[in-house]
Amino acid sequence: MSTISNEKYEAVIGLEVHAQLLTNSKAFAAVSAEYGSAPNTQVTPLCLGHPGTLPVLNENLVRYIINMGLATNCQVAEKSIFARKNYFYPDLPKGYQISQYDTPICFDGRIDIELNDYDKTIGITRIHMEEDAGKSIHDQDPYHTLVDLNRAGTPLIEIVSEPDLRTPQEAYAYLSKIKQIVQYLEICDGNMEEGSLRCDANVSIRPRGQEELGTRTELKNMNSFRNVERAIAFEIERQIELVESGGEVVQQTLLWDSNKLETRKMRSKEEAHDYRYFPEPDMPPVVVTDELLDDIRADLPELPSVRYKRFIEDFDLTEDAAYTLTETRQLADFYENTLKELNEPKAVANIILTEVLRVLNEKSIPINQFSITESKLANLVQLKLDDKINSSAMQEIFNEMLTSDKSAEDLAKEMNLIQVSDSDFIDPIIDEVIENNPDEVARYRDGKKALIGFFIGQVMKQSQGKANPKQVRERISEKLEE
Ligand code: ADP
Ligand code: MG
Repeated sequence: MSTISNEKYEAVIGLEVHAQLLTNSKAFAAVSAEYGSAPNTQVTPLCLGHPGTLPVLNENLVRYIINMGLATNCQVAEKSIFARKNYFYPDLPKGYQISQYDTPICFDGRIDIELNDYDKTIGITRIHMEEDAGKSIHDQDPYHTLVDLNRAGTPLIEIVSEPDLRTPQEAYAYLSKIKQIVQYLEICDGNMEEGSLRCDANVSIRPRGQEELGTRTELKNMNSFRNVERAIAFEIERQIELVESGGEVVQQTLLWDSNKLETRKMRSKEEAHDYRYFPEPDMPPVVVTDELLDDIRADLPELPSVRYKRFIEDFDLTEDAAYTLTETRQLADFYENTLKELNEPKAVANIILTEVLRVLNEKSIPINQFSITESKLANLVQLKLDDKINSSAMQEIFNEMLTSDKSAEDLAKEMNLIQVSDSDFIDPIIDEVIENNPDEVARYRDGKKALIGFFIGQVMKQSQGKANPKQVRERISEKLEE
């Protein structure tokens, strides 16, 4: 985007995020909602829209959405109603989705996001419940579109933001925050590539300083965080160029093409759906009692932003360290479980941030697939803190532990890495090194104190890494000062 346009215009972005909930069964039918089964094996007459079937509300859908509402500081409506959203599509046998319209269960919330140089609060307009449609499959048969109704009726929540976002980066940060929160709450796996998290972006521009919002376009079909960021950036630039060249933004829905890296028109306002919403006659209002709210509130896990602050305060970690360690609930749990075995917050944070995360990245696995248990890791760190091994030995033992069931201590002995702090062992080696390097000794005594590193290196090498480097340093300087 050219800088001139950037100074002249400001972008306004609002996101609509769908999260697929991890309930066992569907939103309104007692049938599994699990992903990945053979097509059309998780279907009831209700999912097929057969006459005479009646929806029954899955209580967990209500619990899960209230979890999200409370986690995002929303108001929770005492009474909200379901509505029918009508449209015709082959993967929607009922001809409507059950959703919520003018009375969403959660509303007026906020989510705090952190950017590189600043923090910001994004308003949440509403969070409502709805059911998913089935899936049309266009690429498995050359002549026909196939329909899989396993997904029909699986529970979703839709989180609608205020038009508070201003840049593609803010949109990315906001979406990441939603993913982190739903994962902490364990209500959605947060996987955008697999479609458990989906995002539509509404984008407009306006001259800086103008209050009134510009005409927006709605972007669909972005199946990764990167693509959301890219699509929004592309669309902002397109709108600015259009307006700068005398054109006008038309309200329309655009599809993001992740291969061509551009948006293309799907439908304009004139062709937009009229869903003819009306209250769902087969469902009573959803009533949220104080007991239910209290019950859910009591069960709410510590949220990422709270945990982040606590890690800084209680464990004296840097912001970066606390941020990384609280990025997922599982990693934060792993850290705190290790601390229960060994209360050394910094040393434990250190090995997780370096060695453990390196392995997780290399293998692209989450922490719950990591092979070393918390207590074994704690034992390894303990050996180092007791000066029984040095840092390079710790690394070697760590690597060995990845594929071994043995304890850190057994491995240290087996690999001959237990550090020797015995001067009877160290002194003769130091004497030998001093004797063999008369030039360096002379230069050291002449004032070139940096050579201490050279002597330590030599002694460590001779001792095959077993000498205690701290002690070696002390003894060498003593001997050289003699
Ligand atoms: P709809 O349901 O028709 O998509 P909404 O009014 O519910 O429309 O808005 C959907 C999203 O669009 C919200 O996230 C809102 O913040 C955002 N939005 C509304 N107007 C604008 C605008 N002019 N520019 C950018 N985003 C907007
Ligand atoms: Mg919309």
